[in-house]
Order: sequence, then structure tokens, then C-alpha cells
Amino acid sequence: MSANNTNTSAYSDFHLQYIAGEWQKGKDDSVNTNTNPYNGDELVKIQQATEEQLNEAYEAASQAQQEWAKQTPAARAAVLYNVVNILDQRQEEIIDWLIKESGSTRIKATVELSTARAITLEAATFPNRVHGEIRPSNTPDKENFIYREPIGVVAVISPWNFPLHLTQRSIAPALALGNAVVLKPASDTPVTGGLLLAKVFEEAGLPKGLLNVVVGSGSEIGDAIVEHKTPSLVSFTGSTSVGKHIGELANGGEYIKKVALELGGNSPFVVLKDADIDQAVKAAAFGKFLHQGQICIAINRIIVEDALYDDFVTRFLEHVKTLQVGDPDKMETAVGPIINEKQVKSLKDKIAKAQEEGAKMILSGEIKGQVVPPHIFTDVTREMDLSRNEVFGPLVGIIRAKDEDDALSIANDSMYGLSSAVFTQDLAKGLRFARGIKAGMTHINDISVNDDSNAPFGGEKNSGIGRFNGEWVLEEFTRLHWISVQHQPREYPF
Ligand code: NAD
Repeated sequence: MSANNTNTSAYSDFHLQYIAGEWQKGKDDSVNTNTNPYNGDELVKIQQATEEQLNEAYEAASQAQQEWAKQTPAARAAVLYNVVNILDQRQEEIIDWLIKESGSTRIKATVELSTARAITLEAATFPNRVHGEIRPSNTPDKENFIYREPIGVVAVISPWNFPLHLTQRSIAPALALGNAVVLKPASDTPVTGGLLLAKVFEEAGLPKGLLNVVVGSGSEIGDAIVEHKTPSLVSFTGSTSVGKHIGELANGGEYIKKVALELGGNSPFVVLKDADIDQAVKAAAFGKFLHQGQICIAINRIIVEDALYDDFVTRFLEHVKTLQVGDPDKMETAVGPIINEKQVKSLKDKIAKAQEEGAKMILSGEIKGQVVPPHIFTDVTREMDLSRNEVFGPLVGIIRAKDEDDALSIANDSMYGLSSAVFTQDLAKGLRFARGIKAGMTHINDISVNDDSNAPFGGEKNSGIGRFNGEWVLEEFTRLHWISVQHQPREYPF
């Protein structure tokens, strides 16, 4: 299992599926035409997979997993360390793919690669962090052993917005912990969300069959991936509506399975009256417009306490006007293209609706192709669509809060509870406020966009079930087995 680390020639041939350790042509009649969201260039055509090929992938995963689980922790860790080395050696190639396939700006692509690297490095420690327990028994002469075992085969379904990282944060821990994976990347990002990672793991020496990448449309093979008898866990990252469907499928059919759901968000970014306003303005711009706002933990609502509201709006507007918009490949570009035309249409609808509902548009710009420049709205209320729903684009509403209590009430007025942020120079107040927010994550004096490989990432309410990173993902991707030993014959009542 050694990586061929001298091989740095660019990967090619992303038109094939990766099943049972072989690169094979999809057998479905339909074709995924993968294009660059900025200029429309065709990147690759992929013949999609059939359900029969999905079955083949599950069969291979199931067989390969049994041997993989028996490998020493050192052997499994070595593959993950090889992957880290390959990510380093191929960083330019990977960043280039993230720019051209997912419309990532250079800044975002670099951030994404570094988070994917960090979770791989963290996952490399997992094989040696798994441990069991011996617990006392209330039955005389009995010993209780608790084993932590791989969960088996994991189905992974990932989204297009941070395709490399959000795929890797499921597959690296899953494989490190002795599982096998069948992955379906999003249709907009089959390369960076799957096929490219398959090349990396193959080069890193991962045995055949452990990672399978099946490219097909969510509506064609999505249900079959989830309903299949083989996976014990479905790790889904995507929208709340599809996530609810996956949750129902995973437990409504013949086979019951565990689900990890990382879903949509509506992150509040709260600026209290004693905040460092300069820092809050810069943070709001970065946390809102990074990757054009297409991040589950992006700032979705800016809530400013009355005393600072006007000042904040003026300075935020001035700052956002300076952001460069357009070609994601240019170093200086802050806001690049939206992933696809459907998303552009949904943003156009949101702009129209915000105006209809009475929000004041203080910044807009011409939408050219799939590039939507930043739009800022003031006089936004908690009832408006901009506040209630996930925007997933470079539009933002600023809401005025009467005081701290009102700000907290607005922040919590959402069916989502993923990430959040609060700015204040009084850290005791910040902590009190943060603990009042019903969300999985809150960042004081920083943006809501944070992902640390050793801190629990996940949401409350309609934002999902489960946690990624550190020991939390280790628990998610393993199962417990209680084994007891009766050392002396027990006396039974009859
Ligand atoms: P999506 O739900 O449309 O798609 C996600 C994945 O599900 C894709 O691979 C898609 O092909 C697949 N899919 C679609 N229909 C399916 C079906 N019927 N059965 C099985 N799979 C199916 O989401 P998206 O548009 O790719 O991503 C954006 C959404 O994801 C946003 O709502 C965002 O907040 C959320 N998201 C959440 C997190 C998180 O960590 N909580 C991270 C990133 C994105």
C-alpha cells in the first residue's frame, strides 16, 4: 500500500465510473455533461451509471470491507497519510478543477483544499483512536466488554458547493475506521466531488472495492443508493428537502439504517451595540460573499442592534462595493459565478420577492450569465422571505433589532439551527448570547463559516442529525458491540 508519490502528471479521463476498483463506462443511456459555470466550457461528458452498476459497487464494497476491517491501524493510517501527500503534491491541479468545475474563486478553492486536507490528516489518527471498554456487571462473575467496530458499508451523497471537502469529510473517516464506501457525487460536481478523489485514493494505495464512485442523477439512482440492503449508514449532505426524503427512505423501507444528515442553514450574524464595527463589517462581507454565499453556514441574516444599525449599513455598503466580481480564476476576484442556471433563476426570484415585500435594495448590479453581483437589502423584517429561507447566493438582508433580547429572539426565529455568529467586545455577554442561540455552532467575534477538523460540526432543528469531525464522527461511523463473558455458571430462576 504505497503511494506512487513521484507520479505528478495530471490526472485525466474523468469520463468513467469507478466501481470495484476499475474505471468503467456508465451503462445508462443518459449523459452528464459537466460544464464550467463561469464560461460554459464543456469539461467532460460522463455516461451515467445504471442501478445494475450500483449493485456491483455495493457488492464490491461489501466484500472488500471485510478484509479492510482486519488490516492493522497502521496500514489504514498509512493510506490516509499517502492521501495527504498527494493532495499536497497536486494542489495546483485540484484548485484548478475546483475553479473550473464548481465556480470556486481562487480564495475559496484554496480554503476548500486546506479543509479537505485537515480532515484527512485528522482521519489518519482515527484507526489508532478507536478503543473498547470493560464495564462492571451487576451479574456476579460476568465481565462486560464493549467493542467499537466498523459500521460496514457507508453510502455517501454529497452536494456541489464544497464538493471536495464535503465528500472527503465523510469518506476519509469512513475508510480510516475500516468501512467501505459507495459515493454519489452531486451532478454539477462529479469530478471534484468524487472521481478526482477516487484517483487520489487509488494512487494512495487504497485496496480495490473500498471506494466506489457512481455518477448518476439524484432522481435516477438516488433512491436506490439509500434503499439498498447493503449500507448500514447513509451519510447525506445537502438540502433539507432532499434530506427529509432520504431520512424517510432510509427507515421507511424493508431495511432500517442509520442516517447522518447535514442539511440547510439560515445563519444569523448578530452585531451588538458594543461590537468592533470595522471588524464586524469585514467579517460580514467575507462570511456572506465567500463562494457567492453558496455555503450552508454562510451568513444568511445580518441582525444589527439599533444603536449601530445606520453606521453598520453605511460601512458595509461601502466595503461590499469594493469587492471584485467575475472570473473566479483571477486572484483578486471575491465573487464568482453561481453553480447553475436553476440557482440563478431562484436568486432572481428572491430579488423580486424581497422588493415586493418592501425591503429596500441599496446595492444591486447587472446579472451577467451566471455571475450575480452582491445585492444588499435594508428594512428587512423577520417575516420576509430573505429572513425565513436559505438564500444560497450573494444576496443579504439587514434586520434592525431593538436591543440584545430582540436580537436573540430574531436569531432564533428560524426552523434551521446550523451555524451562527455574534460580535461584541464584552466576551461574557457574547458567551451568554451564544448559549442562548439554538444552533449546533456559534462563533463569537468571527463569521459563521468555520469548520475545524477537531470540533463538532453539525446542526439542530431542520439543519440535520449528527456531527462531523474529531471523536464525534468516529462515533458516527462505527457501531458498538456489547460482548459479555459469564466466567462461572449462573443460577437461573427456572
Ligand atoms: P441537494 O439536496 O439538491 O443535493 C445534494 C445531493 O443529493 C446531490 O448529490 C444530489 O444529486 C442528491 N440527490 C438529489 N435528489 C436525491 C434523491 N431523491 N435521492 C438521493 N439523492 C438525491 O443539495 P445541493 O443543491 O447539492 O446543495 C445545497 C444544499 O446543501 C443547501 O441547502 C445547503 O445548505 C446544503 N448543505 C449543507 C451542508 C451541511 O454541512 N449542513 C453543507 C453543504 C451544503
